[in-house]
Amino acid sequence: MNETATLRARAEIDLAALRANVRALRARAAGAQLMAVVKSDAYGHGAVPCARAARQAGAAWLGTATPQEALALREAGIGGRVMCWLWTPGGPWREAVEADIDVSVSGMWALDEVVAAATEAGIPARVQLKADTGLGRNGCQPADWPALVTAARAAEEAGVLRVTGLWSHFACADEPGHPSIAAQLDVFRDMVAYAEKEGVRPEVRHIANSPATLTVPESHFDLVRTGIAMYGISPSPELGTPADFGLRPVMTLAASVALVKQVPPGHGISYGHHYTTPAETTLALVPVGYADGIPRHASGRGPVLVGGAVRRIAGRVAMDQFVVDLEGEALEAGAEAVLFGPGDRGEPSAEDWAQAADTIAYEIVTRIGARVPRVHLHEDSARG
Ligand SMILES: *Cc1c(COP(=O)(O)O)cnc(C)c1O
Repeated sequence: MNETATLRARAEIDLAALRANVRALRARAAGAQLMAVVKSDAYGHGAVPCARAARQAGAAWLGTATPQEALALREAGIGGRVMCWLWTPGGPWREAVEADIDVSVSGMWALDEVVAAATEAGIPARVQLKADTGLGRNGCQPADWPALVTAARAAEEAGVLRVTGLWSHFACADEPGHPSIAAQLDVFRDMVAYAEKEGVRPEVRHIANSPATLTVPESHFDLVRTGIAMYGISPSPELGTPADFGLRPVMTLAASVALVKQVPPGHGISYGHHYTTPAETTLALVPVGYADGIPRHASGRGPVLVGGAVRRIAGRVAMDQFVVDLEGEALEAGAEAVLFGPGDRGEPSAEDWAQAADTIAYEIVTRIGARVPRVHLHEDSARG
């Protein structure tokens, strides 16, 4: 037992595993730089410690969705290249330019706003133009690309900005052989070639997320943007397990059992009585619930290592707690319940929870609530 074992619940974050994962991913994309994607509080793992650990392991870039997330990294004293891509009108463009953040632009409104902000600040903005090569989400459509490139080049010639990158994002990289992968790569190459013909000299061209980094080497270009794989989770169980890719899960979610008690047969358990004890038994109360990010959809199904076995949740997940039937096994209050982790002790994985809740492991780790303290382990490392 370590000193944090007395907390109600905790998410232990193994930063040594994160660093090893970053190194494994860099080795897999040896010709490219690596961007550690730390949006959404590093998928629930804690943005600042994870960003620092990723840097130690050689991540040249950090990536976030929102500018606020990028600015928070700067406020924590993190230097080097940082990029963010999810903007809405009003910015904060000027703050991002002054903080030396690479900003993504998908359309004319955004280019106009960044040009205005950079002019006011008197500092050239670092702009990366995003192409919609088929995802159909953010990014500039091929038909609108010439106008965006022309306007960006004009601003570059005027000294207001520098186009540092050309980039895009995959729709189906987690489905090997999906025809959209090759189709998006073709469109990306064409859109990059057009911009370069118009005089754009990008430092980085990039399209690969975790699944593409792991399985589509021709997508690596100058930079790969890895999120989920860096946290030691496979982008999809169909692609392989984390171990198949030399990755180790970074987060362990555990709680202290709050109560153990004997109940008679036929006892209804939790709201709605969706579970009834088949025999006289012992119950363990696990003090985490949907307020902590435990999916209510996993009621009756979510797996937990408690006592000597992996058991399923009995009945519904409530806001703050759920119950496990120990089937008569004796246990003390304060015993550890491990919801998921790397599996060393036989505990379930985040992927097991994803399957129990009909979702993806990305959502399982990212939704862990703010009420659960993150305990960062192996933070300090001279070897990086
Ligand atoms: C979240 C995100 C990534 C990382 O995706 P993973 O599948 O977690 O590696 C990369 N690029 C963009 C634009 C993203 O939004």
